[in-house]
Amino acid sequence: MSVSTYAASPFDHAKADVILRSSDNINFRIFRLFLSIASPFFETLFDIPQPPEGEDSQEVKDGLAVIPVSEDSKTLDALLRFCYPCTLAEDPNLEELKDIVNVLEAAKKYSLEAIERKVAPTVSNPKILEAEPLRCYAIAHRGGLREEALLAARYTLTQPLIPEWFEEIDLLTATDLLALLTYHKKCAIAVEALKNYRPWVISHYGSISAFPFTHSCSGCPSSGGWNTSNSAVQWWVDFWDKTFILLRDKPCRATIDMSAEEVIRSVRQRNCSHCSPKVAENMREFTTVFAGKVEEAISQVSRCSLSSVEKST
Ligand SMILES: [Zn+2]
Repeated sequence: MSVSTYAASPFDHAKADVILRSSDNINFRIFRLFLSIASPFFETLFDIPQPPEGEDSQEVKDGLAVIPVSEDSKTLDALLRFCYPCTLAEDPNLEELKDIVNVLEAAKKYSLEAIERKVAPTVSNPKILEAEPLRCYAIAHRGGLREEALLAARYTLTQPLIPEWFEEIDLLTATDLLALLTYHKKCAIAVEALKNYRPWVISHYGSISAFPFTHSCSGCPSSGGWNTSNSAVQWWVDFWDKTFILLRDKPCRATIDMSAEEVIRSVRQRNCSHCSPKVAENMREFTTVFAGKVEEAISQVSRCSLSSVEKST
């Protein structure tokens, strides 16, 4: 047998009553009571009478039964810290997404539901979601964190419809990935419908003539007819068309904001006495309303189109 060593405090306690041995041969001296309270799995395991000392089937070390587990010491350490009272062990720091996968897998295996609830905030942290939405989705989905998976699915709309490879992609089955791509596509279709949805522009501005981009401008070319009878300044029509092309791939607020900031820079450079001074103010007012409509449209499709995602979590 390979050499085993002891885990660090508090899993080296002299009065511990059982040893859990990790897959990399680290002995964790622990108290059965803490694990039994946290997990019905361990409660049942510890209730099984231990074979008498000396029988081949049960290794004994320092007078304590040794129970081998398949988790490595890093995962087991995190798992046990969640089970122990906070006066003895602080919750582990799970900033590394990879660690979360292992801990969630183990939590599921050992029926440690409380751990899932503690891990959930990490995969629903907005900063992590913005940076790694697909990884968060895969982890939450695999870990059975339904609400967190739905939230992360929403954040994946900031990524292209066909995403680049990401580290935890193998946590998803082909069916899971298809469900996510279908959701993305349905959101894009829902957003596309806003392009010709004249009433929401009128409901905000009062009338189409009050819409600041429909006025003719002596300094800028105008378009022949935006939305039937009304003409609009050409740079705005170009922005409108281009934004909808981008929204097909990334139907989210960030797409609108990026496109708007680009047109604001471009119009300021035109030095048009009519358009340039007010472009930022007018565009930001408009894009706030527009982005709100996009969010609303996406909210309406998300629950039903994600049903297959929810079912498989
Ligand atoms: Zn102008």
